[in-house]
Amino acid sequence: MTGADRLGRPLRSLRVSVTDHCNLRCRYCMPEEHYVWLPRSSILSFEEIARLAGLFTECGVTKVRLTGGEPLLRHDLVKLVAMLAAGPRLDDLALTTNGLLLADQATDLRRAGLHRVTVSLDTLRPERMQAFARSNRHADVIRGIRAARDAGLGPVKLNSVVIRGFNDDELEDLLEFARAEGCEVRFIEYMDVGGANSWRMEDVVTRREMLERLALRRGPIEAVPGGDPSAPAERFRLGDGTRFGIIASTSEPFCRTCDRGRLTADGHFLLCLYADSGLDLLTRLREGASDAELRQQIESAWRERRDRGAEERAAVAERGALYSISALRADPRKEMHTRGG
Ligand code: SAM
Ligand code: SF4
Ligand code: SF4
Repeated sequence: MTGADRLGRPLRSLRVSVTDHCNLRCRYCMPEEHYVWLPRSSILSFEEIARLAGLFTECGVTKVRLTGGEPLLRHDLVKLVAMLAAGPRLDDLALTTNGLLLADQATDLRRAGLHRVTVSLDTLRPERMQAFARSNRHADVIRGIRAARDAGLGPVKLNSVVIRGFNDDELEDLLEFARAEGCEVRFIEYMDVGGANSWRMEDVVTRREMLERLALRRGPIEAVPGGDPSAPAERFRLGDGTRFGIIASTSEPFCRTCDRGRLTADGHFLLCLYADSGLDLLTRLREGASDAELRQQIESAWRERRDRGAEERAAVAERGALYSISALRADPRKEMHTRGG
């Protein structure tokens, strides 16, 4: 088991980006026409991911989330899920997806051992999805959410990134939709992560503003006590019992309790969503490093960790996009879709 990092935080959770490709082009994540993709040969195989995940488990990880890019674009993802489910015991094996391909795969994913899914749903209006993510497949996302719920991949969480002037008039509609479908929505503050190269503070709807707006229309809102203190979402309850979460990474970052590491699609271990670079486990692994050597590298990287990227960003006075387009092109690992949200 890995010791705590320099700020006393244990390593408990791992997000694995299984591909840098995506079938959407959300404006806050992949706004460009063209991207520099990771070389195919450098993408971790399922065997490599399963081996690394096993080592991370020995280092203390109990929760693994598959993400991307769009993880369901990875051919036969269900096989990877089965491999991870057959490995050392995980308390939580989850998937974050845009839902486009979920309806056809939900039952197989559940049978393979996936515990639950989070589906990104920013809007209930198909025309907004067309304008904002360049896709006319809104109905497929809704089908995916229902299929996941019916397959037992619940409680299904819905991630909605709230952006001023785009979907900030849909907070209540999203809450109602989630309640009616037996899901729970989590409103995410728009973040200045790599990829969001048009990010502006004016477009962020903060946790505080969301709560004020909802309280005005729906009455007092209670915080739901308890829960996992290292979970990114704070949970709330409306007077009628409807629950929802807010992930306030931009205005009220929660780095002090962050137990999450990340593995890029090409096997770099990142200590923070905002990290400039990470530990290249892929090269070490392909050069024949033993399990003990790899574990030792993971552990010592974590023990040296001082990262608190979102807090540092919050302290920047004139805050704008994190990276320029040229910086992202020069190093696609800085992209959100490569490192996994
Ligand atoms: N493609 C999958 C999806 O969209 O669910 C998984 C990968 S995506 C990078 C993971 C999460 O990151 C999504 O819920 C997405 O909304 C979120 N995300 C991407 N860019 C973001 C940004 N600039 N601010 C806040 N959240 C963002
Ligand atoms: Fe949108 Fe997820 Fe694709 Fe990024 S990776 S463009 S958030 S669907
Ligand atoms: Fe964790 Fe980095 Fe996110 Fe802070 S910014 S919560 S340290 S991943």
